[in-house]
Amino acid sequence: MVAAEESRGVSRPVDLDEAVGLLTGARQVVLLAHVNPDADALGSALALGLALHRRGAQVQVSFGAPEQPAESLRALDVAGLVVPHHRVAHVPELLVVLDTGSVDRLGPLADRAETAGTTLVIDHHVSNSGFGTHYYVDPRAEATAVMVLHLLDAMGASVDLPTARCLYAGLVTDTRNFRAASPDTHAMAARLLVAGVDAEAVTRPLLDTHPFSWLSMLSVVLGTARLEVGEARGLGLVHARIGREHVSCGRQEEIESVIDVLRTTAEAEVAVVLKQVGEHRWTASMRSKGRLDVAAAASALGGGGHRVASGFTLEGEAPDILDRVRHALADAPLLG
Ligand code: 5GP
Ligand code: MN
Repeated sequence: MVAAEESRGVSRPVDLDEAVGLLTGARQVVLLAHVNPDADALGSALALGLALHRRGAQVQVSFGAPEQPAESLRALDVAGLVVPHHRVAHVPELLVVLDTGSVDRLGPLADRAETAGTTLVIDHHVSNSGFGTHYYVDPRAEATAVMVLHLLDAMGASVDLPTARCLYAGLVTDTRNFRAASPDTHAMAARLLVAGVDAEAVTRPLLDTHPFSWLSMLSVVLGTARLEVGEARGLGLVHARIGREHVSCGRQEEIESVIDVLRTTAEAEVAVVLKQVGEHRWTASMRSKGRLDVAAAASALGGGGHRVASGFTLEGEAPDILDRVRHALADAPLLG
C-alpha cells in the first residue's frame, strides 16, 4: 500500500509475479470491466473475483453501464459478486480493471482509478494507454481470460467449474470461436473442458441465440448496408447503421451481432457498424480481416481496440462520422 500511495499519478508496468503479489495481498478488492462488458471482460473479472473471494477477500465485480450484465452472461456469476455501479465502494483498497484499454471505458466508475489505494490494470489491448498505478498488459494474449488463467495458476488458485466457465466464455468470444487461438490457447481450452465445461451450453446463449424479433431488426439494419470498394486503401469498406429505435430497446446480444454478419462481406476488408446511442452520439464497431490496422483507425477517432477489432464513440451525425471513418482508414497502416 505504501508503494502505491507514493506512486499515485504515476503508472508502472508490472510482470506476472508483481501482479500476483498485488492480488494476493489485498483484503478488499473491486474488479471492474469496461462499459457494456462482453464475455471476456466480465468472465475475466468474475474468474479472478471468485478466486479472491475463496481466499477470504471482500469482492465486488462491476462495470459503469448498463445496470445489469447482458442476459447471456448472468449465469456466470454463481457467487453473486456482481453489484450495480452505484454500489461500488468509493475507496477500494485494490481496484482491478480488466479488459479495458483506457480509463474512459470505465464510464461513471472512472473516478475509482483515482480514489483506490492501488489500481491494477490487466488487459490485452494493443491500444492500452497504461493507466492505473500498475498495469499488466500483454497485447499478444488473445483474450484477457488467457492472462487471468496464468495469474490464477501463479496464485496457486484452483480452477473449479464456475471459474472454468467464465474463462471459457472469454476465450471462445475473443478468439472468434477459437479461429484466432494459438496452440497454447487451444490447450488452455482443453484444460477448461477437462474441468467440466460444457462448450455447447456455455457458447450457445452467447453466440447463437436471439429472439425472433432480431430477424426483423436485422433486415432493417442490413438494408442500410453500403459497400465502398475504393475505401480502406482500396481494400473495401462495408458499413451499416443501427438507429436509436433499435439500440435503445434491443438486447446487447442482438446489437453486437450485426458486425459479425457485416464482416462476412467478401468485397470489403473493413466492416463498420454505427450504433446510435444518443440523439447525436454514435458508437462504432470496426473489424478488419487482417490486412489493415483498425486499432490505429479507431485511435485516430478517439477510440481503440485490437488491430482487427476496434471501436470508438463520437458526437455528430452519421454521414459526418462516416467521412471521418473513411479518412482514418485511408491513413491506417497495412498489416504485414
Ligand atoms: P466491440 O466492437 O466488440 O464493441 O469492440 C471491439 C474492440 O474495440 C474492443 O476491444 C473494445 O474494447 C474496443 N472499443 C469498442 N468501442 C470502443 C470505444 O468507444 N472506445 C474505445 N477506446 N475502445 C472501444
Ligand atoms: Mn478482450
